[in-house]
Amino acid sequence: MARACEGADCSNDAGTLQCPTCQKQGKDSFFCSQDCFKRNWSEHKKIHKSSSNPLGNFFTPTVISEPDPNTGHYNPFPSFPYTGSLRPAYPLSPTRELPAHITRPEYAKDGIPRSEQNFVGRNKITILDKKQQEGMRKVCRLAREVLDEAAAALKPGVTTDEIDAIVHKACIERDSYPSPLNYYNFPKSVCTSVNESICHGIPDHRALKDGDIVNIDVTLYHGGFHGDINETYYVGDKALANPDAVRVVEAARDCLDAAIAIAKPGTAFKEYGAVIEKLAKSRNCNTVKTYCGHGVNTQFHCAPNVPHYAKNKAIGIAKPGMTFTIEPMICTGSAKDKTWPDNWTSVTQDGGLSAQFEHTMLVTEDGVEVLTARLPSSPGGKVEMPAAATNGADGAEKPAA
Ligand SMILES: [Zn+2]
Ligand SMILES: [Zn+2]
Repeated sequence: MARACEGADCSNDAGTLQCPTCQKQGKDSFFCSQDCFKRNWSEHKKIHKSSSNPLGNFFTPTVISEPDPNTGHYNPFPSFPYTGSLRPAYPLSPTRELPAHITRPEYAKDGIPRSEQNFVGRNKITILDKKQQEGMRKVCRLAREVLDEAAAALKPGVTTDEIDAIVHKACIERDSYPSPLNYYNFPKSVCTSVNESICHGIPDHRALKDGDIVNIDVTLYHGGFHGDINETYYVGDKALANPDAVRVVEAARDCLDAAIAIAKPGTAFKEYGAVIEKLAKSRNCNTVKTYCGHGVNTQFHCAPNVPHYAKNKAIGIAKPGMTFTIEPMICTGSAKDKTWPDNWTSVTQDGGLSAQFEHTMLVTEDGVEVLTARLPSSPGGKVEMPAAATNGADGAEKPAA
């Protein structure tokens, strides 16, 4: 059933995007896109005045549900039952352009990764020859450089859209395509997942706050191969002083390291989950079941499937020449997930913090080579638990506020 877009200059069918103010006033008004909504806002808002809800003038909404007059930012899903305090800050910036000389993956135009969807032999795990392994080494090194550049820019006040711009530019400088861009129509060049967001957060105009944790998930396509990496970072001193933040971020980091420690020829892809779950539980954390590690090579996501929980039924055993990721998502509370109406952003159902780390690795004769390994210059890295908060009874000096 097609509805017409409310936009005055628009003949498109409407999508699911509704004017939040009309929605609150119990009226239907659907638009085809955020762009169209924004373009028509100054005209459209006049119809709000004619509606008679006198209380509307007295209560300030607790979420930005219509464009902030100063910034033009708004929450596109104001009636969605958010699980924590994170909100989207739309409109998304315009789609970023890429120079013509950059080699695109097959989905760059229409969003459909056709060869990933070819189900013939979907459990067959590719073994790369020496030349292909060199291609993976190269793209993974570039992905590490791009992640490090993005991470170096993190500080309170920076928006995730600004991080996206940095990643996009850094990819172009390395003659690479940012793999997330238009993959199943993902709108941006990197995933940025803040606080209760588990993964697949869409960069937008929300400024990072002192106390946030943010995961940056970078994938590059270069020379015919994808290289995939992510890390979670602390934003500002408040995050470093938050025991929950440090507990979950360091648990996720250690879960990845513990899994990599058992990776070698002969290890079954179903074995990593038990190692990860055991360590997560020992830190009073839980591991997400919905999203898995994956094969990565000429395709962004392919066999094997690498679950991060115990007693999974993943198929396959590591052999030299295979490349795959491990990328545990660890939560302070329940690991049950929920997806925002943007169809991407995955958050914890209980609103608790979630952290993730990811490497791409190559199976060698006697172990694995971590192709996305940290460099001596890489920002971030392990931190200690903040000193236990005291009540002052032991005479310890309180830190300045
Ligand atoms: Zn990734
Ligand atoms: Zn991945």
